[in-house]
This record gives sequence, structure tokens and C-alpha cells, in this order.
Amino acid sequence: YMPDALLGQSIETLIPDRFRPQHPGHRTTFFAAPEPRSMGRGRDLYGLRHDGSEFPVEIGLNPLTTDDGSFVLASVIDISARKKAEDALTQYIENLRRSNTELEQFAYVASHDLQEPLRKICNFSELLQSRAKGLLPPDIEQYLIPIVNGAIRMQTLVQDLLSFSKISRGELIVKTVNVQEIAELVTSTLDTVITECQATITIGTLPSIKVNPTQIEQLLLNLIGNSLKYRGTQHPVIDISATRNQEYWEFAIRDNGIGLDPIYAKQIFVIFQRLHTKQEFAGTGIGLAICQKIVEHHGGEIWVKSTPGEGSTFFFTIPHTPHREQRFQIQPQTRQKKTLIQ
Ligand code: ADP
Repeated sequence: YMPDALLGQSIETLIPDRFRPQHPGHRTTFFAAPEPRSMGRGRDLYGLRHDGSEFPVEIGLNPLTTDDGSFVLASVIDISARKKAEDALTQYIENLRRSNTELEQFAYVASHDLQEPLRKICNFSELLQSRAKGLLPPDIEQYLIPIVNGAIRMQTLVQDLLSFSKISRGELIVKTVNVQEIAELVTSTLDTVITECQATITIGTLPSIKVNPTQIEQLLLNLIGNSLKYRGTQHPVIDISATRNQEYWEFAIRDNGIGLDPIYAKQIFVIFQRLHTKQEFAGTGIGLAICQKIVEHHGGEIWVKSTPGEGSTFFFTIPHTPHREQRFQIQPQTRQKKTLIQ
């Protein structure tokens, strides 16, 4: 509108037809107890142009008392651009969520279906290796070594991938369990390696909380197992503790191992990312990705604080009321770090 065209007109002129009948009522309510506020809380507001088209708006209301009576100063902002950006972002998140689910489904089906043929390759290549011993020219026999090793490695990777993709399938079934008992069970499972490397493990008072017991056992097994694996030259000293916060329990697994450079503190939780070759330390780089998935599946978070040569502390939180992770994070791609070994 040109300003002149609006002078003396009712404010309803600027409101689309479908909202017009209710508007005088809203105005009366506002004038009964005027206070500065934004209009239409929780509702989408639209303005009407002279040409009949509509556009989304945000309206701020400010009451003014003058000698001539009470007025309201309304500031109307066209938020078309912001709305468009928000809609595009919602669509983008929805697409990402869908492709994420599809990828998870693919990882599950692929790792599940690859198991059987891989088992055959492993079994028969090992059989061939033992039966062909001395029957083949030595240089040809050598070819069998990488075939067997490669097949075994692939089998481990596929099994790990399957465990990873199983975590967030289906509903999260929780029950109240004593985490201290689970930690004790896990350390008894690791008894052989604990004795072998003369490790000291201290388990503080840990709470009883509502979690999925199998997943929490797996989480502690991976974290304590890593503390033992990534030990330095001294005997491992591992401390497991928990502190209560208002909304969650915070657990800490502290070790005196080799530690890691904090620049890798995020990358190590990404699937298949490792800081060492398999000759230095055995592994597939999936353990911490599983830990992260379990913790996030319970609605918590996991992170590490570490100093190279001085040990690491892995922290994770579990909310008092665990729930399936709903947040959707867009994480930067971190796979291209040169020093990381795939
Ligand atoms: P893997 O142990 O199979 O490599 P993980 O996902 O469990 O896979 O760990 C990823 C990387 O994080 C490891 O390769 C290692 O470099 C680092 N890491 C994990 N736990 C520790 C730890 N307690 N101390 C030092 N480094 C660790």
C-alpha cells in the first residue's frame, strides 16, 4: 500500500481473510492488559499485501500511553527470507535423517549377508593353506598368506560392523541395573589380560540406573578393554567412578596409558578411525564408535580428555530418564586426516 491508502483504514485491512473475524477479539484482550510482547506466540502470522498476496510476519506490540489515550505501536517484520531458510533447513535435515536410516539399514543388511560367504572364504582358504603345504611351489604357497589374513581381517570388520549397526535397531529396552555389578563382571571377563599386564582396576561406588544392561556391559568392556590395550610402559592403573548431576550421571574411566593428542579427541569416535596400525595395536577402529552409539542411544554424551604419555579419561553421561537419542547433529566430515589410519 502507499501510506496514504492506509491512513484511516482499520488494521484488519492488513490481515488475511481467514484471520480477520478473530482479530478484533484479540485486540480487545490485548488492550485489557497491555504489555510489550510479540504477537501470536506459537502461531504463524501472515500479512496481506495490496495485491492480495500473503507473506509471513513477526509482530512486536508496544503499548503507549499519551494525552490522547492509549495506543499500540506495532512493528511488523517480513520474515519470508528467514522462513524460507528454515524450511530449507528442515527439508535438509529430513533428507539427511532419511539417508542416515537408509545407510544404517544398508550396513546392517550388508554386514549380515556378507557373513556367510566370508565364512566360506575363510574356512576354505585356511583349509587350502594347510592341505597345499609342500605341494605347491614355495613362492605360490606364499600367495595364500595374504589371502587367509585378508579374509580373517574382513570377517572381523564385518562382525564389528554388524554389532555397530545392531545397536540402534528397534526400541531401547531399559531396566534398573547396578552399574557397579556390571563393571565387576566386565573386569572378571578381562581377568587374563589384567593378570598378564599386572593392571590395578579400582571401581568406585557406581549407581543403579535405568539402562539397557547388554549395551552398558559392551560400553564398559570397550572402554576398560581400551585402557588395558593402550597401556604405556608402566603397569596399567585404571579408575572407574561416577558423579551425580541434576539431570544425569557422569561416569569416568581414567587410565595411565599412552594417551592421545587432543586434536584427535573427536575423530577417534568415528567408525573405522584409528591412530595406530594393526601391527602396533590390534583392532578395527569400531569400539569407540559403538560406545558413542550406545551412549547417544540412551540420550547421553561421550568424550575424552587426554595428554599424550600421561593417560586418558573417557567420560560419558546417562540421563536419569534415558531415552532414544532424538537430536540430529550434522557433523563435519573428518575422514581425511592424513595421520589417521583407516
Ligand atoms: P580400536 O581400538 O580397534 O582401534 P577404538 O574405536 O576402540 O578402536 O579406538 C579408536 C582409537 O582411539 C584407537 O585406535 C586409539 O588410538 C584411541 N584410543 C582408544 N582408547 C584409548 C585409550 N584408553 N588410550 C589411548 N588411546 C585410545
